Amino acid sequence: MLTSKKSNSSATIVRISIFRNFLKPLFVLIFSNYYFDLGKKITFVKILTFDFLRSIVKYKSKFAPFMHTEEVFILAIESSCDDTAAAVLKDNIVLSNVVARQSIHEQYGGVVPELASRAHQQNIVPVVEVALKKATISKNQLSAIAFTQGPGLMGSLLVGSSFAKSLAMALEIPLIAVNHMHAHILAHFIDEEGFDKPTFPFLALTISGGHTQIVKVNSYFDMEIIGETTDDAVGEAFDKTAKILGFPYPGGPLIDQYAKEGNSKKYPFTKPKVPGLNFSFSGLKTQILYFVQKNVSENPNFVEENKADICASVQHTIIEILMDKLKMAVAETGINQIAIGGGVSANSGIRQTLKDAQTKYGWKTFVPKFEYTTDNAAMIGIVGYQKYLHEKFADANVVSKARIEF
Ligand code: ADP
Ligand code: MG
Repeated sequence: MLTSKKSNSSATIVRISIFRNFLKPLFVLIFSNYYFDLGKKITFVKILTFDFLRSIVKYKSKFAPFMHTEEVFILAIESSCDDTAAAVLKDNIVLSNVVARQSIHEQYGGVVPELASRAHQQNIVPVVEVALKKATISKNQLSAIAFTQGPGLMGSLLVGSSFAKSLAMALEIPLIAVNHMHAHILAHFIDEEGFDKPTFPFLALTISGGHTQIVKVNSYFDMEIIGETTDDAVGEAFDKTAKILGFPYPGGPLIDQYAKEGNSKKYPFTKPKVPGLNFSFSGLKTQILYFVQKNVSENPNFVEENKADICASVQHTIIEILMDKLKMAVAETGINQIAIGGGVSANSGIRQTLKDAQTKYGWKTFVPKFEYTTDNAAMIGIVGYQKYLHEKFADANVVSKARIEF
């Protein structure tokens, strides 16, 4: 229902009908000469001209909004975990990108699903209003609404999807369902000065709080996972290490910060042996736990005195695990364009290592703009834009999915 009003094919049909109605009076004028007298000819031409004018009016009033094919405005909504985010895109350009971070979870040391869902309910309307205001457009100018369908926390996803559905229905514009992990990858197609876009096919390393994957990206909508974690995600490795060290949640950014001052070779941790392109991070977490417990039993101030070196060593090990698998993936696929995405791609050590890989291994690497690393709605918007161009619209009864097929 939501997709029928503004469809390219319908607009084409109306364009054809205008053309046909324009030709009809011409034909009548030419051929009726042989069969009809002047009075009948005039009546015929009057009727057919009226047909022609009516088809123009119909075309203008019903399909004119769709004809802004050069300017597509997408409102995107992201609510998969603990960030309520909205963005407005004009084609592949971000006009606004607003995120309301939920601080309530800090005191619990992790995301509490029920609290996240409630906070989304409070935040969603103001966040969308700010996004539209910053973009300086009215909601009547919107071409479509894109939202995160999954993966994520069910209660959180439902807030975003219900809001997106209602607004799309009220505005009578298409609804677009987006896979959050596709969005982390396709964020590289946002038009940003100083940021190149990859060309297909390329490899994407998606590293976040919930995922660690190597994906072969053949096109905007054709992607295959060629390696993934068998247990913890890399973001969890950062966050759990931070918890062991007594840092507040989420600890990833803090480890990054302390690592900058430390010696990454001071504490050599063992890398897991996982076959193929898959990863494992739970063993590293246990190793760090025993290492800290042993040293703290000998010196209660061990963590405080050595936190920079511990963080640098842990981060270095994680980067080596990721790089080993990327090198294998490049060798296996013969593809040497690598894009990274997801919250952990905000890590300065990982970003630098990927940039260095250009000269070190001859790869072409793509590191996203910082604001498109952790969860944001601009990345949902860019997928929305591509789906809009390909008319991949969702029905109003599309369901949120905690786990979603890639
Ligand atoms: P989700 O998994 O919900 O999609 P994000 O994509 O926003 O979440 O990623 C959040 C993860 O990114 C958290 O585990 C967080 O610790 C991690 N993270 C964010 N910034 C950094 C950083 N600078 N260094 C390491 N990890 C980071
Ligand atoms: Mg994410």
